[in-house]
Amino acid sequence: MPNRTPYIAANWKMNKTVAEAAEFVDTLLPRIAATQSDVVICPPFTALAEVVERSRGSAVRVAAQNMHEEGFGAFTGEVSAPMLVELDVEAVVLGHSERRQLFGETDEALSRKVPAALAAGLEPILCVGESETARDAGETEEVLERQLQADLANVESLELERVVVAYEPIWAIGTGRTATPEQAQEVSAFIRDVLRMRGAVVDNVRILYGGSVKPGNAAELMALPDVDGALVGGASLNPGDFAAIVDAAG
Ligand code: PEP
Repeated sequence: MPNRTPYIAANWKMNKTVAEAAEFVDTLLPRIAATQSDVVICPPFTALAEVVERSRGSAVRVAAQNMHEEGFGAFTGEVSAPMLVELDVEAVVLGHSERRQLFGETDEALSRKVPAALAAGLEPILCVGESETARDAGETEEVLERQLQADLANVESLELERVVVAYEPIWAIGTGRTATPEQAQEVSAFIRDVLRMRGAVVDNVRILYGGSVKPGNAAELMALPDVDGALVGGASLNPGDFAAIVDAAG
């Protein structure tokens, strides 16, 4: 039986000032002091340094919500992997559906961002997921396979286990609708199969579920054999709720 450390990530999106981020971390840390899981907070860029400093010596690691694939240059408004590493940021969310839908992030850009993150020593949290239309049309697996193959096209097989994959059905993000345990397990197992075919050591790859995870449904979802944790949006803004989700990982 593979023994993967549970991975719970808080995606704050465009929420929390530096002061609010500091208050959150100070409240959260004593609540999760005994956790054996990997706990990751993804604040906006402006609060990264504060969360890194406040969480030193704890179970919490810090991730950015995006990065540019180049190390530096004329890319106004962008932030590079080396800039994140300099702050002791350890991971980065890539390909979140909000970035794909609202900011035109393409699979082609992701095929450059994922290896750039790995090369800089960041752990990519790659988000994939189908729209409601695609699910209704029976195209879920086709969409996911296309995203995974394209986004990971430039990653060597042996490096794939360093990528954390988040399955985030778009219809479940921020909607209060959660995938059923059967849906989450079926798709996570499919993602593992695609990675296996790409030559990954799949027993080591963490696959997260994201989409309206809350304290009340987290344990059931994270107990599924191919679901190794959660990417949490709305419920991660409250330290009590997020701590309860961390507890649910066991
Ligand atoms: C997310 O944005 O990654 C997410 C899963 O959001 P929510 O938990 O609010 O659905």
